[in-house]
Amino acid sequence: MSGLWTLLRSYVGARRRFQRLRGSALARYQDDRARVVVAYAMRRSPFYRGHFAGRDPRDWRTLPLVDKAMMMAEFDTFNTRGIRLTDAMTAALAAENQRDFSPTLGGLTVGLSSGTSGHRGVFLVSQNERLQWAGIILSRGLGGLRRRGRRIALFLRSNSNLYETLGGRWIDFRYFDLMMPLGDAVRALNQYQPDLLVGPPSLLTMLADAHVWGDLRIRLERVVSVAEVLEPQVEARLASVFNVPVHQVYQCTEGLMALSCAHGSLHIQEDAVALQLDPAVRQDTDAPPAQPQRWTPIVTDLWRRTQPIIRYRLNDVLTLAAAPCPCGSAFRVIARVEGRCDDICYLIDLSGESRPFFPDAVRRMVLLAHPGIEDYQVFQDRTGQLRVHLQVAAATDFGEVTEALSRTVEQSVTCHGCRMPVLHCERGLTGRLPGDKLRRVRRLG
Ligand SMILES: [Zn+2]
Repeated sequence: MSGLWTLLRSYVGARRRFQRLRGSALARYQDDRARVVVAYAMRRSPFYRGHFAGRDPRDWRTLPLVDKAMMMAEFDTFNTRGIRLTDAMTAALAAENQRDFSPTLGGLTVGLSSGTSGHRGVFLVSQNERLQWAGIILSRGLGGLRRRGRRIALFLRSNSNLYETLGGRWIDFRYFDLMMPLGDAVRALNQYQPDLLVGPPSLLTMLADAHVWGDLRIRLERVVSVAEVLEPQVEARLASVFNVPVHQVYQCTEGLMALSCAHGSLHIQEDAVALQLDPAVRQDTDAPPAQPQRWTPIVTDLWRRTQPIIRYRLNDVLTLAAAPCPCGSAFRVIARVEGRCDDICYLIDLSGESRPFFPDAVRRMVLLAHPGIEDYQVFQDRTGQLRVHLQVAAATDFGEVTEALSRTVEQSVTCHGCRMPVLHCERGLTGRLPGDKLRRVRRLG
């Protein structure tokens, strides 16, 4: 009963705060919540006690930063339950291998973030924290849908039992393993007939193809993209194939960052996380003014106590919307999650300095080059170089495409005061392991 109470309280509170909290009241709300969490972390987490030693927790907005490398290196003392990384890892890997995500470690949910290998994050969440999370998602993520018959199909790489919390009388929630063969997924969806389809954009695209071919026969109310960057051309295609709005959940190991409202704007969940925004790169004074400001967020989770996330620097790049959302909420709107700082490519400018090219700019360069380009991947092996893998339509002359690409790249970099990069074009995409995150632009060097 107390579980249901926590969920309901979170649901009602989340709705009210989303509509009413603004300005100084919002800042006060974040101050109050953050101070509670910081004080708790300093009492119960030996890592934070040391890291924040001698600092006034009331000035939480200026406390020293943490990041994923620190969190993982100091895992055992970072969390407030004394859980050892080896035990958490063993539990999480066992769950993943057996594809059975019901067991927990001492009442906590253990999950692995799907970062690239070597950058795996392990997260711990308590039952209470799960219920609060569920309350927010329910109150904000399902806005504008029909009242009854909400069937939700969720595709995830691993079903941490975090997500099963949502199953209940109000909605029917079914989990599908992202690793299942596409044909099986299509059959299961045809049988289940979901109203809402949730999954990473790479999978949603495959399901959209199946829909076009007539294999997938479902009528949706909404598509929700999670776990990967949703690129504008993918969003447009999903919206037109399924003929429904496409919403986003921007969430990572470090917390629930942003959700789309009924108008489709991606609002920062300002009462769940305090996001402080830092310029993503040093701004050049001679940078073109047309470029929107890119930010990299510093996250303070206002609720989590098991594994407190305080002044945690994320590796993402975002831009903000200039105008407030017509839904009336004052929570800031993210115009676009552009990718990760790691994926900013660097070209050489006319004075020989390296200059950042954001994933979004690189994507646009490739996509605008030639109508025959169906899909692509861009890798940067070293500064001043780009390796572009292209999948082109059958009847297209590959030489013509690479010439067009070379011209577009030259135009684009010249207009940003850069030299033409060394450009390698290869036919066909490189393989991706099932369940791997789709990153079309990657810096390797
Ligand atoms: Zn809105």
